Amino acid sequence: MNIIIDPGHGGTEKGAVYGLNGIGVMEKDLNLILASQLYVRLMKHFSRTALIRNNDIRIPMRKRCNTINNKKWDLCISLHCNASASEDYSANGFEVLHYPFSTGRILSHYIFTSMTSSVRNIIKPRALVSNDQKAILKTRPTSCIVECGFMSNCDDMANLMQPRTQMIIVHSITKGILNYCGDLVGNKLHEKFNT
Ligand SMILES: [Zn+2]
Repeated sequence: MNIIIDPGHGGTEKGAVYGLNGIGVMEKDLNLILASQLYVRLMKHFSRTALIRNNDIRIPMRKRCNTINNKKWDLCISLHCNASASEDYSANGFEVLHYPFSTGRILSHYIFTSMTSSVRNIIKPRALVSNDQKAILKTRPTSCIVECGFMSNCDDMANLMQPRTQMIIVHSITKGILNYCGDLVGNKLHEKFNT
């Protein structure tokens, strides 16, 4: 199986921007840090692993989706960090998004479950989200978006900046993906999901 990793935003698309201890942190940089670590872990397990960007460049959404839609990719994981749209600074936790009634829904479940067991004491599980708007989720491979925590929340933000937290997040996402692939190959997905 082949997997492509999408570090959200890049270049002039900064994503969320929040300060921590007087330093401005941009979501695009955080996404790239997490995605690069995920790449290193996943490349040991997949025949082919790729990052959509490995530096700070802007890639228009249409081009991103065209790259993901190449038939060589079986899975796509997009990494983001969240921010509260309503300036509710108490909003926190990680989310995994998928397209409704898609194979991405099952992959999301595996990732959310794995993250819940490993990350819950640092960043809390917030939601598994069905979303029919995001272009990445409409691509051909089994796709999901992981929102690793809220940059607009002080505690989540401080944790997201910690190398140890980053390592735990990446490890748990990896484990979720590998569990999914194991059950897919073992033909066990339908038993668990009645698909
Ligand atoms: Zn984002």
